[in-house]
Amino acid sequence: MDLHELWKAALGEIGLQVSKANYKTWLTNTSIVDKKNGIITIAVPNSFTKEWLENKYHKFILRSLHNIESEIKEVTYQIKPNYIKEELKDKKQFKEDDLSAHKQLDFTELNVDTETNLNPRYTFDNFIVGPSNELAHAAASAVVKNLGNKYNPLFIYGGVGLGKTHLIQAIGNAVKKENRNKKIKYVTSERFTSEVITTLRSGSLRPNDIDDFKKRWREIDLLIIDDIQFLSGKEKTQDEFFHTFNALYDAGKQIIISSDRPPKSIQTLEERLRSRFEGGMIADISYPDLETRITILKTKANEKGFDFSYDILEYIASNIKKNIRELEGALNRLIASNLSTNKKDFNLTEVKKALNIIVNTPKKSTTFKNIIKAVAEFYDVSEKELLERSRKKEIVKPRQIIMYLLREELKNSFPFIGLKIGGRDHTTAIHACDKIKKEIESDQNLNDEINMIKEKLYLV
Ligand code: ADP
Ligand code: MG
Repeated sequence: MDLHELWKAALGEIGLQVSKANYKTWLTNTSIVDKKNGIITIAVPNSFTKEWLENKYHKFILRSLHNIESEIKEVTYQIKPNYIKEELKDKKQFKEDDLSAHKQLDFTELNVDTETNLNPRYTFDNFIVGPSNELAHAAASAVVKNLGNKYNPLFIYGGVGLGKTHLIQAIGNAVKKENRNKKIKYVTSERFTSEVITTLRSGSLRPNDIDDFKKRWREIDLLIIDDIQFLSGKEKTQDEFFHTFNALYDAGKQIIISSDRPPKSIQTLEERLRSRFEGGMIADISYPDLETRITILKTKANEKGFDFSYDILEYIASNIKKNIRELEGALNRLIASNLSTNKKDFNLTEVKKALNIIVNTPKKSTTFKNIIKAVAEFYDVSEKELLERSRKKEIVKPRQIIMYLLREELKNSFPFIGLKIGGRDHTTAIHACDKIKKEIESDQNLNDEINMIKEKLYLV
């Protein structure tokens, strides 16, 4: 794939994540000019664009490029007004036509409702239900009809890109539609945390700020907190959240929470919060089956005015199984590829060629360092302690899991594992691996945790 194709493929994916207006303003007059040692240089027409891409879109750009070619690790931007002009003349790279795909993408972050933070694109109407999410969907629908008094809190968990945010925002949008007076707030736990911190900081000077903060959060009728796992380990924030939670709960207000794992697996979640979560309804979203994936693809394609034959949909859905966001990425790449002018006559051979990079990129392999890092992050313990001899209870289990993963995933020898993890004997390593292997069979919870860690290791 040459630089031109690479950038085009990446833009297909970036287009999914930025509004069409922003896409047009910031990304149309750009081009990859260089690729060396994993570093991509992107030419931009002026310093304004450079700044904007660096500050606002860098994450999307790097992630999309890295998804296409995993050796890409860094992106830099260079102002080259003339280069871009020449390039455009040469290749007619981004004609207005090329943008047609992006014109279809009307779900924009610009549409996010300023009061509720809800994105109107997430609705029940466009949420496809299948065996993987039907329980979560049923619970979500029940909550809309019985706000605050059926499933409270509603706790939805599942892996990356499987529809948690979509579903919990759909609840918010449905409630808003039915009852304009309800006060609804959607917030990620990271955003909540940063508000708590800002308030505490300014509150030391102006105590009223703290009261205002409390009042603001406690007059909400429906509070939706996304990705609660990020609250793990943040004591002050958990404390504030606990009080907010209780105040709302006692007043019969509805609370909805999402997470990448069940409450019992969020390591440093205070016990009192965990038991609060477990007191409500917990539903998971798992990997969609083939039929659901095909339906999702078809719906999304139709939404954009495209029609693909069944064999094409099946081809894509058979090759991308674990992340609906990636399914959409593949679809967008096709749409952006201009393989067909009439939005219908795509042919399977060409589709395969266009998606070759996504489908045939071997899964990322992992390393010693990644395993240590993933386990440390998952259990929220320090990497250093894991490698030392500490016998603290909260260290022992993660350390055994590391040994197990080194053996299973990297086929490291027992003496090597023993040596690297705390300078131990090979028998310690054998014991740890056996123990985990056995426990996985009887302990579903541990099994889930190890799968989640593996997911973090292999999915970018
Ligand atoms: P998560 O929050 O679990 O990481 P998202 O809710 O952001 O996942 O979903 C990723 C993308 O997949 C979104 O664009 C969403 O609209 C889409 N998606 C996920 N599940 C479904 C579904 N069941 N039907 C339609 N689209 C879905
Ligand atoms: Mg999400």
